[in-house]
Amino acid sequence: MLLFVQVMVDIAHSNVDRLFTYALPDALPVAVGQRVLVPFGAGNKKIEGFVLGLSERFEGGANIAVKPVLRVMEPYPALSEEQIALAKWIAASYDCLLVEALRLMIPVQLRGGKIKEKIERTVYFPAEENIEAALASLCKKDGAPRAPLQYEALQLVANCKADMRISDITAFIPGSGPAVRALINRGLLKERGHEVYRSPLRDMAITRDAPKELNAQQRLAADAVGAALDAHAGAFLLHGVTGSGKTEVYMHAIAKAVQEGGTAIVLVPEIALTPQAVERFRARFGERIAVLHSRLSAGERYDEWRRIRLNKVDVVIGARSAVFAPLSNIRLIVVDEEHEPSYRSEITPRYSAVEVAQRRCRLNGAVLLLGSATPGVSTYLKAQRGKLTLLRLTERVQNLPMPKVLVADMRAEFAAGNTSVFSAPLYDRLSACFAAGEQAILFLNRRGYSTFVSCRGCGYVFTCDACDISMTYHKQEDALKCHYCGSVKHLPKVCPECGKPYIKYFGIGTQQVEEQLHEHFPSVRALRMDMDTTHGKNAHYEILSAFERGEAQALIGTQMVAKGLDMPNVTVVGVIAADATLHIPDYRSGERTFQLLTQVAGRAGRAQKSGQVVIQTYTPEHPAIQLAARHDYIGFYTGEIERRRSALFPPYSLFVRALFAHTDEALLCEAASRFAEGVEKAVQGALSKAGADVRELIFCACARAPIKRKQGQYRYQVLLKLARTAHASAAMQAIYAYTNAHRSEYFAALEVNPQDMF
Ligand code: ADP
Ligand code: ZN
Repeated sequence: MLLFVQVMVDIAHSNVDRLFTYALPDALPVAVGQRVLVPFGAGNKKIEGFVLGLSERFEGGANIAVKPVLRVMEPYPALSEEQIALAKWIAASYDCLLVEALRLMIPVQLRGGKIKEKIERTVYFPAEENIEAALASLCKKDGAPRAPLQYEALQLVANCKADMRISDITAFIPGSGPAVRALINRGLLKERGHEVYRSPLRDMAITRDAPKELNAQQRLAADAVGAALDAHAGAFLLHGVTGSGKTEVYMHAIAKAVQEGGTAIVLVPEIALTPQAVERFRARFGERIAVLHSRLSAGERYDEWRRIRLNKVDVVIGARSAVFAPLSNIRLIVVDEEHEPSYRSEITPRYSAVEVAQRRCRLNGAVLLLGSATPGVSTYLKAQRGKLTLLRLTERVQNLPMPKVLVADMRAEFAAGNTSVFSAPLYDRLSACFAAGEQAILFLNRRGYSTFVSCRGCGYVFTCDACDISMTYHKQEDALKCHYCGSVKHLPKVCPECGKPYIKYFGIGTQQVEEQLHEHFPSVRALRMDMDTTHGKNAHYEILSAFERGEAQALIGTQMVAKGLDMPNVTVVGVIAADATLHIPDYRSGERTFQLLTQVAGRAGRAQKSGQVVIQTYTPEHPAIQLAARHDYIGFYTGEIERRRSALFPPYSLFVRALFAHTDEALLCEAASRFAEGVEKAVQGALSKAGADVRELIFCACARAPIKRKQGQYRYQVLLKLARTAHASAAMQAIYAYTNAHRSEYFAALEVNPQDMF
């Protein structure tokens, strides 16, 4: 008999990051994963908690009084045992509290019971009753109805032979509301409540679509995944050029998993989770789909979660956090555009959805399918090493050609006196495109706050001597700085390469492009899509729909316009300044540029009309640009992985950053320096204990963070670079342990391979 449960209370504090035992009152059925209400602490405050264990005996000793569980929160376990195992892995791998990891698995709305189920009330005529007799009881002796509305309503419901909503009855028989109430009171109609799920898709009609006949390459890929589904193991990288039909391969694999009684998760980047994308899945898989993304209302999120938990769903499609969806019997997890940085959570608990997906597949005997036109170099390396099976789609479907890409040399444009944001080739193509009534996308990436410094005469870019990374101009100090090692350079008046005084620190925004487009093409309507124009819940969708309907001929935007759009009338894509991402101070800037250029170029010519792409740049010879123009991923990968290997950048090393923040800069600096010294010793100690060379800690440096002050607080960082060897995890554990033992008011965050170093 069960007498005790072990509970993790829902309080995120390291002091209570352990299990507490509670007694079960008689006959209270409780399962592992269920949420309960328990008295906690000296004041017996009522706190929610997760049941993580059951036992018949209490090990704590006879003289300790065990408090009782007060009640269960839901009649079903909020967490499956598999999710609990996943949470434990997350807590250990990303160094967070177990309760923080458990919270990832449930909607916030569940906690604290703030949202209620929506109940819809219906009435019905009991099948066992006799309708003639019931109607007769409403009539006078002469057979005329005493209450005509009641008579009519009863007849309607009985004929319906199913439940009817009262609103449906009053729609048929106006003013019959009180009559229906009276029928219920007389016992002639019965009433009952049904739970209804608030779904973002509920009112969208489904247009069914049949699976497409796969082409030969798609067939090979789908068959390989199918065999892995049969074997209950496998991890794949589907590398397919833009428009090669990757989604169709995903859908075939999902269909197989579902037909065999399993379930599947599809992760897509938040930005690509457009209604059109969801519609494609819904057309194929119908009602048994749930959608999870950040724009759902609280009620929708809660209801989608419960539909999944209660096995009413086979396929979950969603952004990053959908990887935690409470599905059971998972057979397949698809991660589309696996290279997207948005799969990493930057807030505590930090995690990578791709890594979590991989773990979850292992826990379920499921298959992992990563897809991309531009796989991350780390991912591709895994495929090369056999940790992922590589599948290839090398051609667009239906023999559509890849778009033609022209690289415009902005140095030559400048030399020829063109100071506008449009090069001559882009201007010509835009003129022709607009004249033909076609559409254009103009892309400009102004990611981060940073700008790089370059010579407009020769294209020279100021880079750090030690790090091979472009340096950032700091206006305040009028100096160039390296965001990796902190070294500083004076900014000269003339270019050190060509001696001309054309040094410029780069920074055009989308607004400037909009302005100039209007000057050059006054009759062309343009839409702008960036952070400033997409505040509202549906702003993103509305801009895209307006563009799709042809209400504007040009769409100007940041990376929001680069991904997933499939618009047949778009024939010209212009990249205003490819250099903007190339020289952000990050070892991944070449990779990100290549990915973005490939993605944005892939928006052109997706239907019958062929596409033209112009990439404007001051460094036309840069491999990321040249190779993107030639659609040569393998060429790019080969050069990039070699560069990473020789410079010891990830995946050959790990960056760990501890961030410190405080209003008192002097104290902050001291605290950060002390931390740097301490953690360096701790890591070196751990490395020698593990029998490793202490030089596997490549460096450990304390410096001001690139953003020196944020929200009134000064910021410092301790940056560690570790060689990725068999000893890296011992070093990481030492960093975690040291950090946890030396948390102070100055400490802000610990990041492993942070997305950016700002
Ligand atoms: P990707 O995800 O690789 O960019 P999609 O899956 O979006 O490509 O496919 C591009 C277009 O081609 C879509 O409109 C899709 O419906 C269509 N498509 C995919 N596979 C086939 C096929 N085997 N036959 C015909 N059309 C296909
Ligand atoms: Zn120069």
